[in-house]
Amino acid sequence: MPLGQPFPLVIAAPSGTGKTSLAHALVGAERNAVFSVSATTRRPRAGERDGVDYHFVSEADFDRMIGEGELVEWATVHGHRYGTPWSAVRDGLANGHTVVLDIDIQGARHVRAAFDEAVLVFILPPNADELRRRLAGRNTEGEEDLRRRLSGALNELDAVAEFDYVVVNDDFERALQSLEAIFHAERHAVPRVSDLTERVRVIKDRIRDILAQEMHP
Ligand code: ADP
Ligand code: 5GP
Repeated sequence: MPLGQPFPLVIAAPSGTGKTSLAHALVGAERNAVFSVSATTRRPRAGERDGVDYHFVSEADFDRMIGEGELVEWATVHGHRYGTPWSAVRDGLANGHTVVLDIDIQGARHVRAAFDEAVLVFILPPNADELRRRLAGRNTEGEEDLRRRLSGALNELDAVAEFDYVVVNDDFERALQSLEAIFHAERHAVPRVSDLTERVRVIKDRIRDILAQEMHP
């Protein structure tokens, strides 16, 4: 069975849940998936690469991207601006790839509005204490930022009902397997298989031939 049409796969969660780790692991495991590299005005963390994790841009560059209509959506998250370039999504889809977006809840809503075919997955932390531990363990932005991200989670968690799927990121490998299952199942959704009518027609024509031959051997 050929794969159905590719689609934007949005992965959203409260900060620290593990969505970036899961999104990159999914793209690493699936050759038909690519990562949508967002633009951001935030500074790179240790180990992050420009053009791979994010396009790290100045405030002026970000304004220019908005002005020139280069972004599907953008949002201010924890004091920095982040946005999804149209090119990241369109180029991936045009090449037959499912495009994985690691974006916040507001962004997920905008992508749903821009792309009917988008699939939205919400990642839940196993519990609040583990969420705090992961944020503290990453320890990239300091105590005040950690508190801001945790209190942001209070509102963000309410958005889960708007999503298509939910995955609990308790054991990482198990969560990744669930994401992969969603990825594969969605590529077999009937509305995505564009040549389905033709396939069915060919099979039916051949069945009629077989039946006719068996009646007149
Ligand atoms: P997010 O993108 O949601 O902010 P990250 O992917 O940066 O989250 O993960 C936050 C921290 O939690 C990282 O240090 C990451 O290695 C760790 N982490 C992610 N998933 C798990 C997991 N299932 N178990 C334990 N630690 C995890
Ligand atoms: P971080 O600074 O931890 O990389 O990301 C902070 C938040 O911004 C995360 O929730 C992340 O998913 C979100 N984010 C990253 N890129 C985008 C984007 O292009 N658009 C939106 N709306 N959110 C984004």
